[in-house]
Amino acid sequence: MKTVAIIGAGMAGLAAARALVTTGLTPVVFEKSRGVGGRAATRRIGDFCFDHGAQYVKAPSPALQDLIAATGDAVTIARPVWTFTADNQIAPGDPSSADEQKWTWPTGITRLAKYLAAGLNVYLETTVAGIHSNSDGYHLYAEDGRALGCFDAIILTAPAPQSAAILSASAGMPAVRSLIESLQQVQYRRSISITVAYPRRPDTPWYALVNVDRQHSISWLACEHEKPGRAPDNAGLLIAQMSDQWASTHWDGLSKGTFAPDAALPQPISEALAAIQPLVGDLGTPLWINLQRWRYALPDTAAPVTMTERIVLAGDLVAGQGRVHLAIESGWRAAGQIGTLLAQ
Ligand SMILES: Cc1cc2nc3c(=O)[nH]c(=O)nc-3n(C[C@H](O)[C@H](O)[C@H](O)COP(=O)(O)OP(=O)(O)OC[C@H]3O[C@@H](n4cnc5c(N)ncnc54)[C@H](O)[C@@H]3O)c2cc1C
Repeated sequence: MKTVAIIGAGMAGLAAARALVTTGLTPVVFEKSRGVGGRAATRRIGDFCFDHGAQYVKAPSPALQDLIAATGDAVTIARPVWTFTADNQIAPGDPSSADEQKWTWPTGITRLAKYLAAGLNVYLETTVAGIHSNSDGYHLYAEDGRALGCFDAIILTAPAPQSAAILSASAGMPAVRSLIESLQQVQYRRSISITVAYPRRPDTPWYALVNVDRQHSISWLACEHEKPGRAPDNAGLLIAQMSDQWASTHWDGLSKGTFAPDAALPQPISEALAAIQPLVGDLGTPLWINLQRWRYALPDTAAPVTMTERIVLAGDLVAGQGRVHLAIESGWRAAGQIGTLLAQ
């Protein structure tokens, strides 16, 4: 049985692994963090549950619709996405995109990752550091030096700088230079997600607002309580995704964590709360504030070369756009490419 190592248990890696199983190959997934889903991440605090990375999933193809339906408990977010500008002018969004369904799950977006991961061989808390190519295949090594096994092919799905680091620390594969150079061309926007629980909900006709002039410190503001099962009755749950510029300015001064409102809040968080208020009104003193940093939030460019030897790249870096459904489709495509290569 031929084996394929998949680096990263985000949506691309898990989709690739599922697809490989159906072609009779054996995938083994290595994930550096403690859970699956990558940037499609869900967090729980008390009775609140929120997605502080990807907000929802689109399904523009029948294959994606089938996948979402197969989870059995997907729901759509009813209210639309509207727009706002630097001077807090709110307006209805593009009516054509208002009809696009926005899929989510009552237990969070990681439900989709958990569905994909069911029955797969996934090694969590395992950071792949390098690859050595020998005549018998690709040997993977963890950052603590542990040997992780020998594989016939590899799918790399970590964000571009992390994938490039793995390839740069590899031996016996002069051809990977082209992949490293390709990965180095991918540019990312940073983001900091600030999630705030309030004692009240705002009365808005929209689910979320997107900043269209890119001049606001907030790029996206969502009413997470609009998703079923996310907040106790009447409590508000807002997610502000701060702009790349704001995140870059405050990156070194802020660390992830949950803050009580009576604690001395870092000044940038107080500024973010002040920026939220004109968009939703006064919702009272926050119950808590959570901060998460995303160094590689959204790719703005695509990797031009995605395959060399029996090593294939997958993930949103292949599409050049940060979207869960594009990451999934790239995983499916990578699995198809590996299937063809290993059949030769
Ligand atoms: C704040 C934010 C908001 C977003 N909003 C949306 C949205 O509303 N809708 C939408 O469709 N998309 C959205 N996205 C984008 C979406 O989350 C991504 O496009 C998608 O999840 C990328 O999946 P992926 O599998 O390509 O990468 P990732 O999810 O990044 O998965 C890669 C995995 O590789 C792991 N890894 C890294 N290095 C190693 C290593 N050395 N060894 C082992 N594992 C490693 C990482 O831990 C990670 O789990 C958003 C992203 C962010 C950050």
